[in-house]
Amino acid sequence: MGQDAEVPLRLREEREQRADLARTLDLHLALLAARAEVAVRVPADWPEHAWSRLQQGEPALCLDELELDWEAVVRLARTVCHILARQEPARSPALARIASRFDEAALSPKGVQALVVRYLADHDGGGLPEPGVDPALFGFVLNQALHPFLQAYAAVAAPLLEQERWLRGRCPVCGGHPDFAALEGEVGERRLLCARCDSEWAYRRLGCPFCGNEDPGGLGYFPTGDGAYRLYVCEQCKGYLKTVDLRETWRRRSLPVERILTVGMDLAAAEQGYRRATGSRPD
Ligand SMILES: [Zn+2]
Ligand SMILES: [Zn+2]
Repeated sequence: MGQDAEVPLRLREEREQRADLARTLDLHLALLAARAEVAVRVPADWPEHAWSRLQQGEPALCLDELELDWEAVVRLARTVCHILARQEPARSPALARIASRFDEAALSPKGVQALVVRYLADHDGGGLPEPGVDPALFGFVLNQALHPFLQAYAAVAAPLLEQERWLRGRCPVCGGHPDFAALEGEVGERRLLCARCDSEWAYRRLGCPFCGNEDPGGLGYFPTGDGAYRLYVCEQCKGYLKTVDLRETWRRRSLPVERILTVGMDLAAAEQGYRRATGSRPD
């Protein structure tokens, strides 16, 4: 079963048991359904370009040459705003401003492309300074609206990544930051999950993927009570990374599912003053 089909199935299973997560799971199921409506065509010659960029140490997607169905991106962004507003009516005015920002961009040639490329090029995850819009919410809407497109490229790139040891803190496909990780294998190798395109790639076991900090004094983690998860934090950049310890479980786990199930860890991290990867959560 492909990951696209597996994620909603697993979320529905969890929905039956996790009353505490009902709101979060309903929201993500609605977002997944909207994203699944979008058909994406990756150009046939793209893997060749992707491979040569990876060989040069660049992320596979070249932002300057990015050609997406911009109208479909805007349509999905509007739908995402609608879904979020339905779940949280208090945010309707902020979401209406974001939806109109997309409409405004769509009026000028290449306007949406410029908006998207600016977002994707924001590697530091500081958010987009857009007048009058909430940067975290805007990042979340953009992340959702781009997801089916970036994920389609990521799926095509996946076999190339297996051949290439990337070992960097940024995504080998889109250049985004991770917002989830897994420890696996006997020696506890670490696999990162991209907050934007769901690519997974190997990274060194220790060190902060956001700022490269390797000083053990400035790095730490908080384990959850059952030992299944760890919240890794970096005191240098105040970044955090939710991590599932797959050495502790017999079950294969889908990282995009785990990312959603661990929303409580995001709240705990925010309360402690740590930052998330751009686009990974609405607030
Ligand atoms: Zn990515
Ligand atoms: Zn750091």
